[in-house]
Amino acid sequence: MRISKLLMPTLREDPADAEVISHKLLVRAGLIQKTAVGIYNYLPFGYRVIRKVENIIRAEMNRAGAQEVLLPAVVPAELWRESGRWAKYGKELLRFKDRKEAEYCLGPTHEEVITALARAFVHSYKQLPLNLYQIQTKFRDELRPRFGLMRGREFIMKDAYSFHATQESLDAEYQNMRETYCRIFAACGLQYKVVQADSGNIGGSVSQEFMVLAENGEDALLACPQCAYSANVEAAQSRPDTPVAVPVKEKMQEVSTPDKKTIEEVSAFLKTPPENLLKTLVYYYKINERENYVVVLLRGCDQLNEVKLKNYLQADLVLPAEDSAVLKITGVEPGFCGPVALPDVRIVADELIKTISSGVTGANKKDTHLLNVVPGRDFALKETADLRLARSGEKCPHCGAPLQAIRGIEVGHIFKLGTKYSEAMQAMYLDQNGTAKPFIMGCYGIGVGRTAAAAVEQHFDANGIVWPPALAPYHCVVIPANAQESAQLAAAEKIYQELLAAGVEVLLDDREERIGVKLKDMELIGISSRVVVGKALAEGKVEFRLRSATDNELLPLADAVQIILARLQA
Ligand code: ATP
Ligand code: MG
Repeated sequence: MRISKLLMPTLREDPADAEVISHKLLVRAGLIQKTAVGIYNYLPFGYRVIRKVENIIRAEMNRAGAQEVLLPAVVPAELWRESGRWAKYGKELLRFKDRKEAEYCLGPTHEEVITALARAFVHSYKQLPLNLYQIQTKFRDELRPRFGLMRGREFIMKDAYSFHATQESLDAEYQNMRETYCRIFAACGLQYKVVQADSGNIGGSVSQEFMVLAENGEDALLACPQCAYSANVEAAQSRPDTPVAVPVKEKMQEVSTPDKKTIEEVSAFLKTPPENLLKTLVYYYKINERENYVVVLLRGCDQLNEVKLKNYLQADLVLPAEDSAVLKITGVEPGFCGPVALPDVRIVADELIKTISSGVTGANKKDTHLLNVVPGRDFALKETADLRLARSGEKCPHCGAPLQAIRGIEVGHIFKLGTKYSEAMQAMYLDQNGTAKPFIMGCYGIGVGRTAAAAVEQHFDANGIVWPPALAPYHCVVIPANAQESAQLAAAEKIYQELLAAGVEVLLDDREERIGVKLKDMELIGISSRVVVGKALAEGKVEFRLRSATDNELLPLADAVQIILARLQA
């Protein structure tokens, strides 16, 4: 392609709303353009990158035996009511009505539509297993859309769904998809890690995320340097070093703690380490539209993992209670709450509460705390669970080595769904004995735009994007240094034509711009290599440089095309 004919709107300045490098570079390089918050146009060069990611995914999914379909983006509410998610999904689901007042949503994921499809056409175990996938635009009205393509509201996803007659068959397909995803991300030129994950809004029991390792990644991970254990912090477990509780004999005792509300203040004032403080939090939760409150106890040194709490309660939503609710339940403002003598409220304690021999906690009375509090003696410990955020340095749950904190970008997520959707939607097949059974299902997603953005986070330098070759919008650009020089123009044109004939995705920069401007643009966009036809032409030479290299190579004009082809293949 001749650049003079292309839409290639590179910018000099970073966009004002961009925080991370991929957002800045994708906009500045003219690959994407914002239309509204979290909603982007993919411009010609950007769409080439997107198509490359899609085609890598397509090739590997087809190779893995999955079949491509395309489902509608607009989904009738009826299907979502059948699965029960219409009531549960919350504000991320964009809902609307048509002219007849019928309700719809823009699909944020397509379990319902695909389950209805299987219900219509798959009736016998003989038709199983089956894996269907699509590459499609999704919409999620994210609370905090940001980082360009990384967390958009409208984004392209590859989503696949598999149907099985047996758990073993699901296990085998899950493994097949895991390996397929590994091939996809390796083919994209990404460094990634597979981690244990929480299943979130999708549901099911087992799930793993594919994380592209990047300093700016939104996801916090804990990884064991010794064994294979690694997990999203949302799901991570650890074995902290804790003492064995030796409960004290002394009775509880009130102590005045004027204005001492936080763990730090109380700990310093009473000269008690945070490990011995009982942190008392009040949470609001909702299950099937029923609202309730729960008191959550943790050691003062620990933080609550809200995902673990939500899963433990099997709630659709958990939120810290408002101060007024805290006052109503405990009789005191936050800061002086505690579990002792709390009337009629569910209390859930982190399991490490049991390691406290003699604790300190709020007395449910203003400016007052209690000393010598023994869990189980001074208040009932009916429900305990792992509710804390695991931290780096704590021991790996498998091998005991200290866990390390790293950051990643979630580009893919695979789930064993089980029968959650098929049971709710009565999607059944007949087994060998003619008995009707719900499909056992798996689902598998990849964020296409997020994968492209993640590639930029891993591959850039001070001048712009250094695309992994498999994703680069073009592989070579031929640049005549001085567009007024007819010899340079003619030689550039010839090299361009030969590369084109050899099947290279090549550009000719035929613009009437200064060479400096041309080079800057190509470096910013991340074209994999460049050939400059300039002064050296007088000696029968052209300059060549890979985007990932720092030095020019002088090539004899006669062999230039052959050498360039070899360099691009290396
Ligand atoms: P996150 O935890 O980042 O919100 P998720 O767990 O909600 O993601 P899934 O439902 O597993 O995401 O969706 C499958 C894939 O779609 C994700 O692995 C991710 O690559 C991509 N994805 C999800 N949300 C977005 C978004 N808002 N913008 C771009 N890609 C997204
Ligand atoms: Mg996820």
